[in-house]
Amino acid sequence: NVRVRFCPSPTGIPHVGMVRTALFNWAEARHTKGTFVFRIEDTDAQRDSEESYNQIIEALNWLGIDWDEGINVGGPDGPYRQSERGDIYKDVAAKLLEAGYAYESFSTPEEIEARNVAAGRPKAFGYDGYDRNLTEEQKAAFRAEGRKPALRIRMPDEDIAFDDLIRGRIEFKAGSVPDYVIVRPNGDPLYTLTNPVDDAMMRINVVLRGEDLLSSTPRQIVLYRYLIELGVAKEMPLFGHMPYVMGQGNKKLSKRDPESNLFLHRDHGFIREGLLNYLALLGWSIAPDRDVFSMDEMIEKFDVRDVKANPARFDIDKAVSINAEHIRMLEPQDFLNRSVPYLHRDGVVSADSWDALTDREREILTAAAPLVQPRVRLLGEVAGMVGSLLSTEGYIEPAADAKKQLKESAPEVLDKAIAALEGVDEADWKTDNLHETLNKALVEEGGYKPRLAFGPVRVAMSGRRVSPPLFESMEIVGKDVSMARLRGLRE
Ligand code: GLU
Repeated sequence: NVRVRFCPSPTGIPHVGMVRTALFNWAEARHTKGTFVFRIEDTDAQRDSEESYNQIIEALNWLGIDWDEGINVGGPDGPYRQSERGDIYKDVAAKLLEAGYAYESFSTPEEIEARNVAAGRPKAFGYDGYDRNLTEEQKAAFRAEGRKPALRIRMPDEDIAFDDLIRGRIEFKAGSVPDYVIVRPNGDPLYTLTNPVDDAMMRINVVLRGEDLLSSTPRQIVLYRYLIELGVAKEMPLFGHMPYVMGQGNKKLSKRDPESNLFLHRDHGFIREGLLNYLALLGWSIAPDRDVFSMDEMIEKFDVRDVKANPARFDIDKAVSINAEHIRMLEPQDFLNRSVPYLHRDGVVSADSWDALTDREREILTAAAPLVQPRVRLLGEVAGMVGSLLSTEGYIEPAADAKKQLKESAPEVLDKAIAALEGVDEADWKTDNLHETLNKALVEEGGYKPRLAFGPVRVAMSGRRVSPPLFESMEIVGKDVSMARLRGLRE
């Protein structure tokens, strides 16, 4: 039974790299019918926040990434917040100390640096093993000075190697990884201890995480060996390190980069299906010639061993076009339901849920859906498309780029359009008839090229250069409003 986990530290807004990690672990669990554990690594009171904790849960819920054991759902190995597991870490640390796998270290960072400089090593060389073999007398003397020891893990003097599920054989030379701190002098356990201890106690057997954590893996392997000796862990997990995600200018996407802010993407109108599909492509692909797929398809095909080791590039344009495909696949009513909160945010409808809209709003949106759904890439674009359909304004101020489109002939074109449309009965105010009427008056008789003929009419109707199809829009808003808009722009 595969047991994987997602264990973020709640230190900021959920970001693309974090969510990709959650997604790949989830897909691995679902593909193998294994178990997905969700715990929170909040041992850094300085940096962790409750707000971030809630946002991470909100992000997973929004995306539909569910878990089997952990936060909120519980399970056999709780609690699942590290801030509530202090006694467990104390107990394991004491066992490690007693067995000699860890030792007390009194050196301050300044002393370590000074010794490195004195010995001709680089200042930032790291810890030199000074306290490895202190006698009881030496320790007592340090204590008498008022010092408190950190706990360090004793690294063995041998190469450490493992087979990464994604990157193949990885080796760290003996002596390249210094003895490292697992408990601070004030008694606080560090990530270096809590992460492997929890993986052990939660019986995680596949650790899938970002490449940035690769350098901590030899330390964890060593600690894991000790935990196995002590009976705390049963078996060494397998490790897989997912590639970096590169942003603009081929630089690593940083957590603070707006492009990596998950909620910003949601605000722009990514739907979960589109965003998940795109995130899945950051290091994985379903088939060489296929970009668009559902999560069910991903689950069916996903295998960590197929994840590529080379860096993945975050390409927002590609993400947006994949989102557009998923928007098109929604049932029209689902599309509308999901659009309403965005429409409300942008002030074009009266409420933030479909059921709370007015009858008129619902009627217009239902008529507009088939025109709009194929033309938007993000739900944030829907307001711009339907705003003029919902509005009863007789004149719509054209946007700057739309104004520029109006050629010298615009007044004449509008006059001819108004004259021709005046003769159309309200009962005949239908897409096909409107098209025919305007085409006859402007193109056939007026002699204008279609772009010059319909451009001003489009700008009058929507104020925009790009809008839902013109004649359908005129039918939706009706004769009175349409005529008022044509006249409004003419003046
Ligand atoms: N809490 C760690 C982080 O957010 C997770 C490390 C891991 O996956 O092992 O970076």
